[in-house]
Amino acid sequence: MSQTPKGQRLQVGLFGRVNTGKSSLLNLITGQDAALASPQPGTTTDVVEQAMELLPLGPVLFLDTAGFEDSSGLGPAREARSLLALRRCDVAVLVIEAGAWGQAEERLAQAARECKAALLLVVNKADQQAPSPEFLQRLRAISPHVLSASALDIAGRDAFLTRFKASLAAAAPQALEPPLLGDLLPAGGLAVMVVPIDLQAPKGRLILPQVQAIRDCLDNDASVMVVKERELSAALASLKRPPDLVVCDSQVVLKAAADTPPGVKLTTFSILFSRFKGDLVSMARGAAAIHRLKAGDRVLVAEACTHHALEDDIGRVKIPRWLRRFTGLDLRVETCSHHDYPADLAQFKLVIHCGACMLNRREMLNRLRLAEEAGVAITNYGIAISVLQGVAERSLEPFPAALQAYQKGALQAKG
Ligand code: SF4
Repeated sequence: MSQTPKGQRLQVGLFGRVNTGKSSLLNLITGQDAALASPQPGTTTDVVEQAMELLPLGPVLFLDTAGFEDSSGLGPAREARSLLALRRCDVAVLVIEAGAWGQAEERLAQAARECKAALLLVVNKADQQAPSPEFLQRLRAISPHVLSASALDIAGRDAFLTRFKASLAAAAPQALEPPLLGDLLPAGGLAVMVVPIDLQAPKGRLILPQVQAIRDCLDNDASVMVVKERELSAALASLKRPPDLVVCDSQVVLKAAADTPPGVKLTTFSILFSRFKGDLVSMARGAAAIHRLKAGDRVLVAEACTHHALEDDIGRVKIPRWLRRFTGLDLRVETCSHHDYPADLAQFKLVIHCGACMLNRREMLNRLRLAEEAGVAITNYGIAISVLQGVAERSLEPFPAALQAYQKGALQAKG
């Protein structure tokens, strides 16, 4: 974990018609031949990622996407891939040529607005044809962030980079991420983290949510004690004063809740991430849908990355089993992973999403938006597991608005 994780980087996608010079532009920005650039239209066939430190902006992940209006048979599929990439972009750089604003550009600009990505318009190949003042004025009515470029002008790279970084900084949303857990701890406070070391734990390291939670404690001048679930009771008994917060893996929440004295706040890593990456209140409200499920309902368990499923896999085995046991219903539970999040969510009654530690906040918010537009309840692993284990009130207690949203929804469902 020597690099900033992908989910923590500003994600900037380059979009446009084929052969507008997106890949050349990315190569000019990064100073590398990361993206295959050629005068042949349609050279980029899938999303190419390139991470870099773009000072003073910080860690950025660039996404070079396949161009629109690709006349090959694969054109529509490639366009769909490019639009999928838009969901995770904080900034969409739309690369165009002077005077060329048509349906493709209109579609991309509209999709960027729907995904709430800021729009930066770059008129490329300005050395071949400079944009007219009228064209620039038309673009500024679409987005205030407009720039001219000559991607093949290597000698002009420094001057272009200065202008590009200034435009990107102006377009990029200010960091609005909620805190991970720092706000739950007073300065000098103590968090106890409960980390099972079982078959699912990766060899020799902690997983990303655990590492990030520990780092956030340190950033907030708090201390951290890390224990396995069997050691929690003894660890709490050894402390001179109770900790300010206990954070556990969702799979041991029942035991952690039993071993943590009432009055000590307790939550799970996954619940912390549902706030950090998404919207905890709406996901707590979504969890109440568990109480409304009926026999035959379809439930989607969505994981944001791929891994080899183990014997007692959390998403594929445990959650479906707990869900059926809790509701006593014959439910149709399906799973999806990585980018296979279905476009048609309306067929499901409930989506249970993983902690999304590998996604950036923009993509998770777009997944929430798609569920809301389809009228489908959405929650996450941590909240759902707490409901299924009968400790939802306990693990949501540190978040009063979320607790209230869940209790209200559950009451309506039961009544
Ligand atoms: S499945 Fe979700 S929570 Fe688990 S590692 Fe992947 S992104 Fe993170």
